[in-house]
This record gives sequence, C-alpha cells and structure tokens, in this order.
Amino acid sequence: MRRCAGCMKSKPKKELIRIVGDKEGHIFLDTTGKANGRGVYLCPEKECLEKARKKNAVSRSLGMRVSQEDLDRVFAELDKYEKENA
Ligand SMILES: [Zn+2]
Repeated sequence: MRRCAGCMKSKPKKELIRIVGDKEGHIFLDTTGKANGRGVYLCPEKECLEKARKKNAVSRSLGMRVSQEDLDRVFAELDKYEKENA
C-alpha cells in the first residue's frame, strides 16, 4: 500500500501513479513504477492533483525544490494519463 500525496488515502500501489525526482532536480511520471529515485504517489484523479499542487506535496515529499515548469509538465501528463485511462 502506498499513500496518495493529494488525498492522503492509502491504496494499492498499482492504483496510484508515481512521480520520481532525479538527481538534477527534475521530476517525471513513472508509469512503470520501476524508475530509480525518490518517488511520490498520487491517484490519477484531478482532485488529488489539485490537492497535491496546493499543498506543494511533490516538492515536500521528494525533499527537493521542484521548478514550476516541471510541476506543470508532470501535472499535465498526469491529467492526460487520467483521461486516457478513465
Ligand atoms: Zn488521492
């Protein structure tokens, strides 16, 4: 079980999407769940994305400063993923 950084509910890992931070301070969607690096989990739902964004949950969970551009890009990818898998 992993906890969504948006709604804070624990769910099976496969129901959540992992965002990974790399050494250069960039973040990306890890749709395989196997990428190296620190990860933060989110439900693929708009509500959770918005909550995580407001709480600055991605930067906090990863313990690194994430640029607004990276956040926007990853959230857009998550949004797309959510629509494709709805
Ligand atoms: Zn959630």
